[in-house]
Amino acid sequence: MKTYRYRLYPTEEQESLMSRTFGCVRLVYNHLLDFRTKAYKRRKETADYYKCNEFLMKLKEVFPFLKDVNSQSLQSANRNLDAAFRNFFGKPGKVGYPKFKKRNGRQSFQCPQNVKADHTTQSVYLPRIGWVPCVFHRRFEGRIKTVTVTQEPSGRYFASISAETPPELPKPERKVESADDVIGIDVGITTYAVCSDNTEYENPRHLSKYERRMKRLQKSVSRKKKGSKNRKKAGRKLARCHEKIADKRKDNAEKISADIAGKNQAAVAVEDLNIKGMTRNHHLAKSINDASWGYFTMRLKTKCERNGMRFVKVPRFFASSQTCSACGYKNPEVKDLSVRNWICPVCGMEHDRDRTASINIQKKGYELSVPVDGGEFKPVETVTVDDRAKAPKKHTVDEAGIVLELPQEAPCL
Ligand SMILES: [Zn+2]
Repeated sequence: MKTYRYRLYPTEEQESLMSRTFGCVRLVYNHLLDFRTKAYKRRKETADYYKCNEFLMKLKEVFPFLKDVNSQSLQSANRNLDAAFRNFFGKPGKVGYPKFKKRNGRQSFQCPQNVKADHTTQSVYLPRIGWVPCVFHRRFEGRIKTVTVTQEPSGRYFASISAETPPELPKPERKVESADDVIGIDVGITTYAVCSDNTEYENPRHLSKYERRMKRLQKSVSRKKKGSKNRKKAGRKLARCHEKIADKRKDNAEKISADIAGKNQAAVAVEDLNIKGMTRNHHLAKSINDASWGYFTMRLKTKCERNGMRFVKVPRFFASSQTCSACGYKNPEVKDLSVRNWICPVCGMEHDRDRTASINIQKKGYELSVPVDGGEFKPVETVTVDDRAKAPKKHTVDEAGIVLELPQEAPCL
């Protein structure tokens, strides 16, 4: 299954049909969410997908205009809500309780059936809406499964077409024989990513230009009267600017991950960063969102696996930029993010913070990806807080000469 996203250019009439569908889908979703929540709170009952479907029939009697839109899009709303609940119960603490859909913000509806696409006339057929002009900037292959129509806050329309494709066979996994077969990657703020093979990737350029523009547009929105047409117009421009920045970041993450996954190596090691915890630190929050690391590592993982490369996450408490990659000495002064270069007081080796980190990540990644004793993997070594309290002040050094760190500390960049 592959998903392709294309821009739609609906006619005025189609726009109003779409906006009606967005509204109906939102209404159904929100009513069903309310129904499920109350069923649980008042009667301690779980209203499942089927009960919700019965409730949807009743909703159609109360709101007869629901019959004017594609009924399958309404059913999709129920299915999506059900998925949101299963996610919530399946990943406790990780996924939040489903939220009500808002009138402003991104709008969407799904068409699970009877959708057609025509590459020659460049249009997509949506039930009840008709043939909508569309730009297929690249052909898609396979049978259409579902189409999700979205309207971004900037007012642009998109169709995400998921198509059934024959499953791609992943390439056979390459063997990790030495640390040279592993690329260690240190993601950072000054440079987007530094690899242990000496390649560096810069942060996307031109972003600052858009950021200045964004500030100007923000001011322009706040100057306009609330509820006025001009304010809405300015708001759309601002949203467009936001979307442009997001697109650029995504694009950059795609390019870099493709480049790394295309290297002729057996494994890729990345630090397992606690992005949620880090964004709580306001100083770092902006730059971290800039770099969109979460998205980057997710894409890198998929691409590596497709290319037969092992993807290894190195535990995040491992002090990557503070440890001398030659002798294993841990320099506590390097914790200060402003220290870019340092010389190891033990062996005298010169270190650049990011380069050192990438080499340490490479070493650790190698260790974690090599099976020891007949195919079994070495367990990830961690030092618990209790152990540390009893341990002498000296660093705890593991076999590879890498210093393990207190698990409660903030990750090092
Ligand atoms: Zn050293």
